[in-house]
Amino acid sequence: MSDHAGAGFRVSGLTLAFGLAALAALSILAMGQSWTVPVTAFSAAALTGVAIYLAFGAGHSATGESAGPHPNMQDLIPDTARDILDSIDEPLLLLDSADRVVFANPATHSLIRSDAMGKRLSSVLRTPELLESIGRVHSGGSAETVEFTMPVPIERHFEAHVSRTSGQLLLVRIRDVSNIRRSEQLRADFVANASHELRTPLASLTGFIDTLRGHAKDDPAARERFLEIMSSEASRMRRLIDDLLSLNRIEMNEHIPPSGEADVVTLVRDAADGLQPLADSESMQIEIEDRPPLWAIGQRDELTQVFQNLIHNAIKYGHSGGHVRVRFGTSGNGGADRERAQIFVAVEDEGEGIPREAIPRLTERFYRVDVKRSRERGGTGLGLAIVKHILNRHRGRLEIHSVPGSGSTFTAWLPAAAAA
Ligand code: ADP
Repeated sequence: MSDHAGAGFRVSGLTLAFGLAALAALSILAMGQSWTVPVTAFSAAALTGVAIYLAFGAGHSATGESAGPHPNMQDLIPDTARDILDSIDEPLLLLDSADRVVFANPATHSLIRSDAMGKRLSSVLRTPELLESIGRVHSGGSAETVEFTMPVPIERHFEAHVSRTSGQLLLVRIRDVSNIRRSEQLRADFVANASHELRTPLASLTGFIDTLRGHAKDDPAARERFLEIMSSEASRMRRLIDDLLSLNRIEMNEHIPPSGEADVVTLVRDAADGLQPLADSESMQIEIEDRPPLWAIGQRDELTQVFQNLIHNAIKYGHSGGHVRVRFGTSGNGGADRERAQIFVAVEDEGEGIPREAIPRLTERFYRVDVKRSRERGGTGLGLAIVKHILNRHRGRLEIHSVPGSGSTFTAWLPAAAAA
């Protein structure tokens, strides 16, 4: 093929590459609007991969040049294509026939050193699964997807797609799937925990049904006692199902912040009124700081649930005969920049407190410091998970402070409404 014809092929290859690169840029722009960010990013990477193939792979073969020992990609990749490849937030690597890195976009810096160019991939990334896959594709295998894990500094899971762009070059597109794997694991754990929590009262109910049909059949006193227990086990199942449904509903709406306003002082008083009989049964006093209304941006029912759960816990795990105190306050800029102002509601008890190492885990579903005690007190292990999700939805947060032996303070922070 003449030089002239070769040059012509290369020019049309570049034109196509620019077209595809523009498509890829559109995909990247679409990412900001879409829920399918990883998928879009991956297809953007695919498009740019094709762009590289057309610009460089086809160019090489058309001009009769071999990729050579180390093609100078710097000269070959047009600036626009490079800008697009650099802007993709998923790692993208091009390797030559000797496995040397000839292109690496900035997203690869979280995986390999930024001076990896020209080095063999095996010297900068020690992941046997990926290197073996690259070896297979190099030696004629078809494109493949492989998973690998990087254990340090924190464990991350990746999926890499290895494909050939020409006889000499390999394109490696990498996707971080850690969040997907983590949520799969969380879902599996959650289903296992929820089934376990439901199975326990169910087993107790079936046990008592058998007993009532059997030797307790003609024993009215035993029957009364067993029916009492069965009723409390059934209530426990109902509470668990109610909490599971609440959690599900809140999670579904978590990405939509509430737009209403609510006076947290009134909501706390309402929540405390509902819990007064329980406090009385423990000879506890609920003391609510006396203050004028304090308005938060939020949804009344959900915020009531937050305060109910926190005050309920303060009674359950507080000091029998002691006090539960609720305080209010504000922080942040209350002047020109009012959106930033935050209000807080702090619920304090005089209970045993919480071991330091348990504090970060309290909002996990079904996590309890003392499972037996929680069950005895009618707990489901979901109360604080519900609190956390409601506060997340409200763009607020939960702070937990505890001194073992003297008590705990759970503080809910919420964005203040303009009237605060
Ligand atoms: P539960 O239904 O078990 O109360 P939660 O999600 O409300 O579930 O709380 C999780 C765990 O956090 C409880 O089981 C308990 O161990 C601990 N906890 C919550 N609130 C308090 C508190 N005020 N004082 C001490 N421990 C608490």
